[in-house]
Amino acid sequence: MEQQLFIYNTLTRKKELFKPLNAPLVGMYVCGPTLYSDVHIGNCRTFTSFDVMYRYLLHIGYKVRYVRNITDVGHLVDEVAGEGEDRIARQARLKQLEPMEIVQRYAFGFREVMALLNLLPPSIEPTASGHIPEQIEMTQKIIDKGFAYEKDGNVYFDVEKFAKSNNYGILSGRNLDDQMNNTRELDGQEEKKGRLDFALWKKAKPEHIMRWNSPWGTGFPGWHIECSAMSQKYLGDTFDIHGGGMDLIPTHHTNEIAQSVGCCDAAPVNYWIHTNMLTLNGQKMSRSLGNVFLPVELFSGMKLAADSPSATPSQAKLDGKHPLFEKAYDPMVVRFFMMQTHYSSTLDFSNDALQAAEKGYNRLAESMKKVSSLSPSAQSTSDIKKLRQQCYEAMNDDFNTPILLSNLFEAARIVNSVYDGKETLTAADIEAVKKLFSDFVVDVLGLKAEAENSGKQMEVLDKVVHMVLDMRAEAKQKKDFAASDAIRDKLIAAGVAIKDTKEGSTWNLQ
Ligand code: AMP
Ligand code: ZN
Repeated sequence: MEQQLFIYNTLTRKKELFKPLNAPLVGMYVCGPTLYSDVHIGNCRTFTSFDVMYRYLLHIGYKVRYVRNITDVGHLVDEVAGEGEDRIARQARLKQLEPMEIVQRYAFGFREVMALLNLLPPSIEPTASGHIPEQIEMTQKIIDKGFAYEKDGNVYFDVEKFAKSNNYGILSGRNLDDQMNNTRELDGQEEKKGRLDFALWKKAKPEHIMRWNSPWGTGFPGWHIECSAMSQKYLGDTFDIHGGGMDLIPTHHTNEIAQSVGCCDAAPVNYWIHTNMLTLNGQKMSRSLGNVFLPVELFSGMKLAADSPSATPSQAKLDGKHPLFEKAYDPMVVRFFMMQTHYSSTLDFSNDALQAAEKGYNRLAESMKKVSSLSPSAQSTSDIKKLRQQCYEAMNDDFNTPILLSNLFEAARIVNSVYDGKETLTAADIEAVKKLFSDFVVDVLGLKAEAENSGKQMEVLDKVVHMVLDMRAEAKQKKDFAASDAIRDKLIAAGVAIKDTKEGSTWNLQ
């Protein structure tokens, strides 16, 4: 491989030269969403960060098998203790739907959001419920190795026993005593031997719908075992890259390592990559804290209407009309906003930051359009080859997208300067700048050269629709219902859905 890529490895706490097991093949697994509600912008940040890594690995010539799972069973309400109701089963009960109806509903929304943010689809998107036999088999192997025990239809991983011959806290850097002290007493979980023990298999209560037969009775798998079983199935006992948000380090990923080592005596992953959190006013965005933003609250041009089968109650007030935001933003602006910060730093979400990102993105997009209209000169005043090399250096340094962007803005500055007649580029260098943009802005950063629903267009459309809605309100007031109905019908025919509320009318793109 021509490029020497360095990756920060959580396991060794160092930047390391990336050496895949079987180059040019690369195996990469990323923990996907638990589909019991809409993914929020925080989840999107993690998936977008891994999309850029995936794109860069492809760009420099690797053949990547990218597996990102969908959790549709086993993720319990209390994920640290591994207790409580299954998150999806809980939603199913509350909404009086089948669990798989819940998953289907949110999978539809998830894929739409991923496509709007221009994420490449993973090579394989396996579901936990589609891999029950694999999870049972792995659990049995761990029992056979003596690292798990069965108690009353539940199977638990014996952490203390495992820790006698292995470093359980290898990923988090925490020792066992530390972890013990940070974990609650075994309140109501007396069947566990030790308080760090976690479930590989849970016995299903009679009312539990998601249930499968197993050697230990009817039940369902624990959350962590799905990722170990599915990554092993598609990528092997040991593979190259495993990713996820850094909130997964202390429990989910720590337990994944324990399971794989307990089952197969092999460390499952060579490079662990963790993304930092998207925050709101400095606090992690999370569904349990209730401070989440949904993409539909922010993006312009989402197809999902409030009354669509996948709509959730919060979508009633939507289409980029969240009270904290002055307007809707193009998903590409949101993607650009995410790229401005390195994946390992926190990223705070605010209206001001998005407005600045919109300006930056538009500036870059405009320069990309200008390249085609530049006139060549006999000599260049800038070294485009060097600039291209700097772009690679940025990405080779642990996927440093903010430094990459600063180099791309330097290219944009050169383009503007040549356009204004202050600097010059040869024909070959103009082509090189074009290629730089198409390689790094479009292929690697995954930004489209032009916004489909640019903020400006949406602003104008919003004003026009409100003008028409005011005319309709006026007609209604004059009791000219024929006119007000005709306006509504014509708006609907044009693709504008209207919702009448006490506070007035709102609109959505259909
Ligand atoms: P979940 O559906 O909660 O299992 O989360 C899916 C992925 O999103 C995991 O990799 C999480 O680490 C990640 N994630 C959750 N919240 C955030 C956040 N606020 N910022 C970035 N990533 C997050
Ligand atoms: Zn996982």
